[in-house]
Amino acid sequence: MIEYWNPQIERMPLDELEEIQEERLRHLVDYVYTHSPFYKKRFDETGVKPEDIKTLEDLQKLPFTYKQDLRDNYPKGMFCVPDTQLVRYHVSSGTTGKPTVVGYTKSDIHEWAKSLGRALTSIGVGRGDVLQVSYGYGLFTGGLGLHYGAEEVGSTVLPISVGNTDKQLELMQDLGTTTLACTPSYFLYMAEEAKDKGIDFQKDTGLKTGIFGAEPWTEEMRKRMENATGIKAYDVFGTSELSGPLFTECTCQDGIHIWGDQFIVEIIDPETGDTLPEGERGELVITTLTKEALPLIRYRIGDYTILNKQPCECGRTHPRIMRVTGRVDDMLIIRGINVFPGQVESVLMKIPEVGEHFIIHVDRINEMDTMKIQIEMNDEAFSDKVNDIISLEKKVASALKSVLNLSVGVELVEQGTIPRSIGKSKKVIDNRKL
Ligand SMILES: [Zn+2]
Repeated sequence: MIEYWNPQIERMPLDELEEIQEERLRHLVDYVYTHSPFYKKRFDETGVKPEDIKTLEDLQKLPFTYKQDLRDNYPKGMFCVPDTQLVRYHVSSGTTGKPTVVGYTKSDIHEWAKSLGRALTSIGVGRGDVLQVSYGYGLFTGGLGLHYGAEEVGSTVLPISVGNTDKQLELMQDLGTTTLACTPSYFLYMAEEAKDKGIDFQKDTGLKTGIFGAEPWTEEMRKRMENATGIKAYDVFGTSELSGPLFTECTCQDGIHIWGDQFIVEIIDPETGDTLPEGERGELVITTLTKEALPLIRYRIGDYTILNKQPCECGRTHPRIMRVTGRVDDMLIIRGINVFPGQVESVLMKIPEVGEHFIIHVDRINEMDTMKIQIEMNDEAFSDKVNDIISLEKKVASALKSVLNLSVGVELVEQGTIPRSIGKSKKVIDNRKL
């Protein structure tokens, strides 16, 4: 039987849901225009007034908001409430420039927990489950986000944060963890450590569900993780600017439901800014409908995905975004061809002799872009025979070429060669930028 956290909202007919969106959108534009000098200025510059926004179609008249706007207005220039109403800050450090600060009112924290409450219920996590939160706690939103979501549905939280893998595995067994939340990289690392210690996830732990995110991963990687450990692996989505992790796939594992009463999703052409029809791949843009402290209008998320409004088998009517294939910022341009690290992962994970770890090196030699991928082999496939390795390298290079349309160098290495990561893993070293 399928369980819902809020069946009335989650199964609401799409047209009724869109009525709620329209009403909340009208309120939102009024709210930001009167409470945020930033938005008032941006609206005035664009020549759009709150009364111009009546329907969902009118959303396209509104200007975009960018991550750079948050940096330019550091730390609190975009907030819509006085400091006395804030109950929390999260801060994310960018690779360049000022960090971004997100403030939360009491209601913002509650809406965030509600969103994850619905998501966790949709993957069968609830009362009686022990959720080991192995995301970082602190200024990063992952740890506390999942923590509040799990408490919302009555699960027992093990707030262990990231690292100390021996302890993770010990407590996982002793306290009967059923659900683990962390980055896919950290799960791979944990699985390796467990194997070394002779711990079998299926026999020696009660683990049945994994919630993996904060870095892109592929469908092929999911198959590997599920086959190797016997758990169900689910994708989780959200960004710190929207609050943090907010949404997961449902048990259908066919897209992530974005709660329409809280957020409006659009997919746009990143070059022109035009809204794309449902089913076309483009950049994700999200408008928040219930946030008080830092509401965002048409926020450019930077992820590439597809919008799907078709009814889901789970009975939920809320629109889904399909698996994120990469971020606008992660795209590599090699000799004029666009390459996403996720495409490389998809190809590699289909080759049984190849392990889970790889790293892409990009260089410019004699004015020519080159791409070389170091890939770990499985222990079983590792061979002392040079000929075996050369023929496997050729096989991998040709599989990559057929998908990427690009000749790339392949170097197979022994398991354990590539540095492991317990946070977000680094899959690309682009020496052209250094
Ligand atoms: Zn569903």
